[in-house]
Amino acid sequence: MDEFMKDRYGADELTTTMGIAGMALALIGNLTGLSALLWAGLALAVIALARAFSKNRAARIRENEGYQALVSRIPLVGLLMAGQQAAPAAPAGVASDLKRQARTARTMWRDRKTKAFMKCPTCGTTLAVPKGKGKLIVTCPKCHTKLEAHS
Ligand SMILES: [Zn+2]
Repeated sequence: MDEFMKDRYGADELTTTMGIAGMALALIGNLTGLSALLWAGLALAVIALARAFSKNRAARIRENEGYQALVSRIPLVGLLMAGQQAAPAAPAGVASDLKRQARTARTMWRDRKTKAFMKCPTCGTTLAVPKGKGKLIVTCPKCHTKLEAHS
């Protein structure tokens, strides 16, 4: 991986912004069913990745400078730029967390008559246990903690 990235340009502010904007667009497109938005977002994210893996540093630096010049002309965004660098990963992480929770909630609702749900005390994973079996010993698939369940 080090060898692969050696001559590559890497991520800059433009890449980060495009990546976040792309993922946000794709997420909105996905949630609203607007496939054009989803594809535009994915395309933006792919271009961001292509920039990061590019070996043409000079061109990428020019693009980033152009982007920064453009953004600094917008007063509020220019101010926010300074604080933005530290937290590029947060929005995507929160979004995938919300998606997982929504999926879990849907599964729990669908299986509410046949399964009992409990949280693993060690790692917090939601475990499904068949209902009506009395006392069970359940092993968490994620961290292998054994716990006793009553169903
Ligand atoms: Zn666990």
